[in-house]
Amino acid sequence: MKFVDEYRKEEDARKLVSAIHRLVTKPWTIMEVCGGQTHTILKSGIDRLLPPEVTIVHGPGCPVCVTPLELIDKAINLALTPGVIFTSFGDMLRVPGSNGDLLSAKAQGGDVRMVYSPLDALRLAQKNPDKEVVFFAVGFETTAPANAMAVWQAKKLGVKNFSILCAQVRVPPAIELILNDPYNMVQGFLAAGHVCTVMGYWEYEPIAEKYRVPIVVTGFEPLDLLQGIYMTLKALEEGRWGVENQYVRSVRREGNVQAQKLMNEVFQICDRQWRGIGLVRGGGLALRPEFSEFDAEERFGLKELTVSESPLCIAGEILQGKKKPYECPAFGRDCTPEHPLGAPMVSSEGACAAYFQYGRGL
Ligand code: SF4
Repeated sequence: MKFVDEYRKEEDARKLVSAIHRLVTKPWTIMEVCGGQTHTILKSGIDRLLPPEVTIVHGPGCPVCVTPLELIDKAINLALTPGVIFTSFGDMLRVPGSNGDLLSAKAQGGDVRMVYSPLDALRLAQKNPDKEVVFFAVGFETTAPANAMAVWQAKKLGVKNFSILCAQVRVPPAIELILNDPYNMVQGFLAAGHVCTVMGYWEYEPIAEKYRVPIVVTGFEPLDLLQGIYMTLKALEEGRWGVENQYVRSVRREGNVQAQKLMNEVFQICDRQWRGIGLVRGGGLALRPEFSEFDAEERFGLKELTVSESPLCIAGEILQGKKKPYECPAFGRDCTPEHPLGAPMVSSEGACAAYFQYGRGL
């Protein structure tokens, strides 16, 4: 299939792997930020083809994984509220809260519906004026424009029974948080191509300069990742830092300016709790005051909840690249995809689920 097969050619992969082996002279640690990239690396065995000097660690770029437990509990409470239709992408439905997940809320009688777009949720609100329709707005900058569009349209059309439970997060502050950690071991980053399709990569340039790290915007196919790893290692070996773009077929420096404009009209940057990591300054998006009527937390007066994570789960260390999933004592024993203790095991983009699925460290 064109545009897929051409980025999976074995012969080209072998050439890139050989070039990486010729290039590397000392140990390096690189982080791929995005959970989709984690899965491609493990599925295609890239981690096993690299020289032993190269360590790939997996970053916090799985939106399901970093959505706080408290917000999942709030989502479940909303789903069980009479008169509410709670809508979400499918990947949040099985994420465990403190007591069950959204699917179990549905089994208890909650009106939980999977949608493919926040605009579907908005249409549902228009068709059901006697109900309150809430959309679980989870994701990185990739999903923010569509969520902004749904809220913007709701305001324009005067739809009063639509709101979002907002869990939008931003990548650059998380990268800075990792680099600011005194125990940080990451020396170069593969930035997530789809986020940069929206945001461009101008936001990463000051970070690369300040911390003197190479950041390579990278796509999701095996050849993309091998090339992104090669470019990062080349910069490291040559003592260079800065931002480079491997994903030129989709990403421009300025990104999608129209999408950014809409996002900025509806959302503003806020501090946000990331599950497993804690408070990330500037790490989230919240609705601007002009759109606060669409904030489900305000509309339903949701109070802060006290939650407690499994004491066995070390998701925070995994999401910051300090440990691998198999270093968690619960991995593959107390914690499996059938019985996940933490979000990185339940999410299809989670590092723990990827290690389990592809048999690493079992
Ligand atoms: S294996 Fe399970 S318990 Fe361990 S870090 Fe991953 S999600 Fe948490």
